[in-house]
Amino acid sequence: MKDVILAWIQGCWKWAQSKKLLECYWDKFAYFETGNVLRALMSNDNAIWAYLKDIVNSWRLVPDEIIVELFRVFLETVGKGKAILCDGNLRKIGQTKGILNAMIEKKRDPIVIQLEIPEEEVYRRVESRKTCKKCWKIYSNLTDWNITTCKACWWELYVRDDDADLEAIKTRIEEYKKETVPALEYVESLWHLVKLDWMKPIDEIFEEIKELIKN
Ligand SMILES: [Zn+2]
Repeated sequence: MKDVILAWIQGCWKWAQSKKLLECYWDKFAYFETGNVLRALMSNDNAIWAYLKDIVNSWRLVPDEIIVELFRVFLETVGKGKAILCDGNLRKIGQTKGILNAMIEKKRDPIVIQLEIPEEEVYRRVESRKTCKKCWKIYSNLTDWNITTCKACWWELYVRDDDADLEAIKTRIEEYKKETVPALEYVESLWHLVKLDWMKPIDEIFEEIKELIKN
C-alpha cells in the first residue's frame, strides 16, 4: 500500500474518496486531515487548545508550521508502520514543502493525486453541501437528496455560511489558483503527481485510485 496525498479544491467532494479509502483499507491507513486532527486536539483541555480554538472558530487558516509539526509527530506515532492518507494539506506552498519533505525524510514514497474539476462544477457542489452540527460530517444534496439529519449521529445538518456565500466560494477558487496550483506545480517538479478527472463517477475514480496505490 502506497502513501497517498490527495489534493483538491475545497468543496469538490474529495471526502467521498477519502471515506471510501478508509472504509476499504481501514486497517492499512493512518489518516491525516487537518480538521480532524485539530478537532481531536481541541476536544480536551490541553496547552494549545485555546490557541487553536481561536483560530478555528474564526475560520482562519492554521499556520503552516503548526500543521507541518503536527504531521511530523503524526508520522512518528499514529502513522508508524502504516500507510499514510493525507487529505487536503497541499493548499499552499509552505505546507506542501513541509509535508512532502517530512515524508521523504522518513523514506516514504507518497503518490500525490490531484483531483481536477471545472470551476462551474465547484459552485454546484459547494452550494449543495451540508454539514452536521455535532460531528462535522459533510453531506451533499446531490448525492443524498434533501438530507436533513446526520447518518452517523442523527443531529441536524446545516449549510455553513461560507458554503452559502457565492463570494466565499469565489474566494476559494481564487485562492486555489493563486496558492494551490503553484504548490502542485512544485510537487510535479520533483515528485509523482497524478491528475484524475474529478467529473467521473465516484466509484470509477475510486477504482483508478485503488490501481494507483497498489504496491
Ligand atoms: Zn453527525
